[in-house]
Amino acid sequence: MSRPYNFCAGPAVLPEAVLERAAAEMLDWHGTGMSFMEMSHRSADVVATVEAAEAGLRRLLGISDEFAVLFAQGGASSQFAAVPLNLGAGAKPFSYANTGQWSAKAMAEARRYGDVVEVAAASKELPRAIPAQNAWLSADDSAYLHFTPNETIDGIEFHWMPETAAPIVADMSSTLLSRPIAVDDFDVIYAGAQKNIGPAGLVILIVRRELYGRAMSACPSMMNWEVIDKAGSMLNTPPTYSIYLAGLVFDWLESQGGLPAMAQRNLKKATSLYSAIDTSEFYGNPVAVSDRSWMNVPFTLADAELDKLFLANADAAGLLNLKGHRSVGGMRASIYNAIPQAAVDTLIDFMQDFERQHG
Ligand code: PMP
Repeated sequence: MSRPYNFCAGPAVLPEAVLERAAAEMLDWHGTGMSFMEMSHRSADVVATVEAAEAGLRRLLGISDEFAVLFAQGGASSQFAAVPLNLGAGAKPFSYANTGQWSAKAMAEARRYGDVVEVAAASKELPRAIPAQNAWLSADDSAYLHFTPNETIDGIEFHWMPETAAPIVADMSSTLLSRPIAVDDFDVIYAGAQKNIGPAGLVILIVRRELYGRAMSACPSMMNWEVIDKAGSMLNTPPTYSIYLAGLVFDWLESQGGLPAMAQRNLKKATSLYSAIDTSEFYGNPVAVSDRSWMNVPFTLADAELDKLFLANADAAGLLNLKGHRSVGGMRASIYNAIPQAAVDTLIDFMQDFERQHG
């Protein structure tokens, strides 16, 4: 069966080899006669599988023991509250770089728990850009600085690391595992799984253990990183099947050459798509070249009246989910790890054909 190319921002395409393995193991996981999702989370097999998934992620990202790796639930959005609840015990304000719609949501949630300072904001004028750090307010005296390395909706990405004396918290939902990162530069990383990791609902957390003890007393146990860590991510019944699937994705990434190989592929995909957009009079991208996302590429047509036809023709050509977010319109191609170069090349050919016919 040939599958269409799925450019959805999330839940997003997963590697076909992973889905095939999960299908093969569905009814009888490793000779147990049970599906993995039917097995007790306290069983040796499930505990070992969760531990193996953690070990796989640690190898991929080079995560030291100074950091906990946690599997939690509630999507990345639950961490919008969990971040201030875990780090807000002192009287310090919470600092946010507001570079797009997900930063704004994180910031709005944090306001429920304390004073929020917007230390920087991406420009609204086109091309949209992230201000250089010398134009930011200082976050040094804050409980933490939160930023969103990749804005999934806006297609804006940091290609540099902010610096501050405060702990640095990053929502890496749509960029984690797209390339190697220096985990030590961060204090807390969280990511909803449904882009480069696995099924929606699961959240991966990488937390510097030194930060334990700063939780507000109102922090629910289910959101408390230290408590989750002590329980080995099994404070309650964890999303075992999602963790198992994430583990298969981590194995697949290792088999492909790990994150350096992903970085090469992802840069090539993004470069070819942006170059097709930039060399055309018909397509446009609203983001400054230096701040463009490798993973989410928004683009507009010269005439928005043609959007519907573009999408219908793309669908018919097996290029799915190219509609931009409802709040921004236009198109968006999400080109995560599991999207091959062939998908991007096919999209580019389709765009050029469409331009010849309608441009
Ligand atoms: N942050 C970012 C950067 C995202 O892209 C998303 C989802 N698209 C979220 C947070 C919210 O994730 P969830 O739906 O898992 O809560």
